[in-house]
Formats: sequence, C-alpha cells, structure tokens
Amino acid sequence: APADYQPRPDLLAGKKILVTGAGDGIGRAAAEAYAAHGATVILLGRTVEKLETVYDAIEAAGHPQPAIFPLDLASAEEPSYRELAQAIEENFGHLDGLLLNASVLGERRPIDSATWRAWEEVMQVNVNAQFLLTRYLLPLLQRAPDASLIFTSSGVGRRGKAFWGAYAVSKFATEGLMQVLAAEQENTSRVRVNSLNPGGTNTAMRRAAYPAENPASNPAPADIMHAYLYLMGEDSAGVHGQAVNAQG
Ligand code: NDP
Repeated sequence: APADYQPRPDLLAGKKILVTGAGDGIGRAAAEAYAAHGATVILLGRTVEKLETVYDAIEAAGHPQPAIFPLDLASAEEPSYRELAQAIEENFGHLDGLLLNASVLGERRPIDSATWRAWEEVMQVNVNAQFLLTRYLLPLLQRAPDASLIFTSSGVGRRGKAFWGAYAVSKFATEGLMQVLAAEQENTSRVRVNSLNPGGTNTAMRRAAYPAENPASNPAPADIMHAYLYLMGEDSAGVHGQAVNAQG
C-alpha cells in the first residue's frame, strides 16, 4: 500500500463493511476510519461494552449509524455464522467489505513446551473462525458490485520465527486460505481477496508480545489506516491475491 495514499473523504460512501475484532486495537481504528469515509460498519467482537464504546464514538462523530454483532470466535459453533449471515442479509442485503482482523496471540513458547489447549484456541480463533466467516459471508460479498475481503497476517505468517508457535502457524494458514480463495474468485467474481500485515503497531497484543519494548516505538493503529482504507476501497481495484504490508 502506498505510504502517501490519501483517500478521498467519501471513498466508502454507502458501503456496508463488517470488521471483526472491532472493539479494540487495529480493528477499532479500522471501523472508525471506514465509518469516517462514509461506510456503514458492522462491529463484530466478543466484548459488548467495547463494541458499544466504538458505536458511540462513531455516532458522536456524525458518521453513518453502525451495527453491533457480538460473537466469541473461540466458542461459536457453525449455526452462529449462518445466523450472522442471515442477519446481515435481512438488514443490509449484501456486504461490500469484510476485514477479518480479530485474532489471538496465544502463548509465546517453544514448540516442545507448547500446550494443546492454547494451540487449539489459537487455531480455532485465527484459522477455523476465519474459514467459517469466509464461508458464510462470501455469498453476501458476491452480491456487491465490487467487494474487498482482507485477511490479517503478520510478519511471522510469511517467515516463521522461534517461539511464535501456533500464532505463526495460524497466520501461514491465513495466507493459504487467502491464496486458495483468491484463485477461486479470479475471473469468476468481483470479490478481491488479499492479506494485510499491519506491522508492529501499538496495541494490547503488541504490548503482550513484546513486554520489554517501549510501546511508543510503534505507530498507533490510527497511523496505519492509509493501508486499510486503500485495500478496502476502489483505489486498489485490480489488487487481488496479494500479501500486502501496511508498513515498509
Ligand atoms: P488486539 O489484541 O489489540 O485486538 C484484537 C481484537 O480481536 C480485539 O478487539 C479482541 O476482542 C478481538 N478478539 C480476540 N479474540 C476474539 C474472539 N474469540 N472473538 C471475537 N473477537 C476476538 O490486537 P491487534 O489490534 O494488535 O491485532 C489486530 C490484528 O492484527 C490481529 O489479527 C493481529 O494478529 C494482527 N497483527 C498485529 C500486529 C501488532 O503489532 N499489533 C502485528 C502483526 C499482526 P476483545 O477486545 O474483546 O478481546
């Protein structure tokens, strides 16, 4: 994504965009940035109070009224994803954008002492839930004239590093899902599919992963929104099947 990208103020006017993990960190910033550029955002996450805070901020700023859909990706079963798709279909008819942002870090340990329980949770949230969201929301994206689906990756989803365990493996899987889906959607649909690595960003997850680091050494979520806006809007038309970096 071009570092000097300047989205026009009405880039996403009239668009309906679902953001997962919209209550905090990068997902919150993306939901607010999309709303500020005209989109009606559907805020999905597990902590309702956080989603309500984001809802209130978007309303107070005078942006299009958002919607809230609470869902715990660690425990939700398949019917909940079907219900999510039904609710969006009833209320909005289709989706123009889907930012699959929510994920968990899990434990930072070598493989030889990793626990099955933590491994399973990371795979459930970061891989299986991404599949289920994609599986049930894709038909709604395919109804849009021009839709963008963004998966969230990481540096360790492109090159493995010691002690990143299930998280790194889950992000490689995310890249795999993106590539398979992008190939399937090529030529047959108007849904663009890419992965985005935000790069080191000052959030709760980054602070948990790097407790000794000065948090201010990384940009705030709001500082990397040019990439999130670029990939979501029409200025990235033709970008498809790519592993994109928000920084550097
Ligand atoms: P945060 O931990 O700050 O935010 C993660 C969001 O995901 C939260 O809103 C959280 O909800 C939500 N979430 C977590 N688990 C679930 C669940 N079971 N069900 C529903 N929602 C859930 O992380 P970041 O903002 O830093 O990360 C956003 C994305 O960017 C992630 O995919 C991450 O892997 C990726 N990334 C981040 C980097 C960074 O430096 N920050 C670097 C590279 C990649 P709640 O607040 O309720 O817990």
